[in-house]
Amino acid sequence: MIDTGELLDWYATAQRDLPWRRPGVSAWQILVSEFMLQQTPVARVEPIWLDWVARWPTPSATAAAGAADVLRAWGKLGYPRRAKRLHECATVIATEHGDVVPEDVDTLLSLPGIGTYTARAVACFAYRQRVPVVDTNVRRVVARAVHGRDDAAAASTRDLDDVAALLPDDDTAPTFSVALMELGATVCTARSPKCGVCPLSHCTWRSLGFPAGTGPARKVQKYAGTDRQVRGRLLDVLRGSTSPVSRAELDVAWTTDTAQRDRCLDSLLVDGLVEQTEDGRFALAGEGGEVRPPSAV
Ligand code: SF4
Repeated sequence: MIDTGELLDWYATAQRDLPWRRPGVSAWQILVSEFMLQQTPVARVEPIWLDWVARWPTPSATAAAGAADVLRAWGKLGYPRRAKRLHECATVIATEHGDVVPEDVDTLLSLPGIGTYTARAVACFAYRQRVPVVDTNVRRVVARAVHGRDDAAAASTRDLDDVAALLPDDDTAPTFSVALMELGATVCTARSPKCGVCPLSHCTWRSLGFPAGTGPARKVQKYAGTDRQVRGRLLDVLRGSTSPVSRAELDVAWTTDTAQRDRCLDSLLVDGLVEQTEDGRFALAGEGGEVRPPSAV
C-alpha cells in the first residue's frame, strides 16, 4: 500500500507550480493542458498553453477559431492530430454541452480525442472526483512501491482497479491522484529513481533490493529522421505562409529521402491537417479554399 499521509505531506511542499494547477483555471483549460501533455514534456507545453488559454479561454472561443489558426497555435508541440481533435472536442462541447465540459467519465469518453486517461484526469483534476487516473508515471510508481517490480507490465484495464484500490476514501482522493503522478514524474523516474528523497517509507521494490526488470530494455525514442520530424518540417513551411505553397516549396523541407517526404505529405492530407487546392498547391486545413480530396495527390 501507499501511505496517504506521507504522499500528501510530500506533495504539499514539493509540487511543481504548474499554471493549469492554479486557482481559477477552468475545466476547459485543464482539458486543454491534458491534450497538450499527452506525449509532450511540461516545459514545452507551458508557454503554448498560456498563450492558448489567453486567446481561446472557452470551448466556444476555440470552436470559433479557424482550423489553421489552431494548428499554428499548436506550434512545435508535435503530434498535431491532437490539435485537430481538440478543435473538434471544443466544437462538440460548445454545441452539445452548453459550452461546459461534462463532469462524468462516460460523457467525457464520448468526446473527440478523449480516451481512458484524459476522461479521468479531467473528472479528477477539474471536478475533484474520486476516480483512478493512470498514466505511465502512476503505473511505474505502483509497479515499484506496491508490486516490487522495476517497471509496469503492459497497460491493461486492471491498472484502473489497481489504482482505485489505493485511493483514500475521503475527499483527499483527487490530491492523492495528482501527487502519485507527480511522484512518478519528479522522483520515481524511469531511469534514475531518487529513492534517497522519496517520501514513501515503504516501497516493495526497494525492500527487495531493487531486482532487475524482466521486460525488454527500454528503447530511447529517436526523433531525427522519423516521419514525425518530416511531418513537422512540412507543417512548418505551411505555418509560415499565409497563402498556399507550391509543391516545390514543400519539397525543399526534406530532401534526405523523397519517398519518405511524399509519404508524410500524403499522411498529412489523409489526417486532414493539410489541404491541396484546386490548382495543386498546399495549405493548412481550412486555408485551401476549394480543395481536392486527399486521394488526388
Ligand atoms: S523508494 Fe524509489 S523506487 Fe520506491 S517509490 Fe520511492 S523513488 Fe520509487
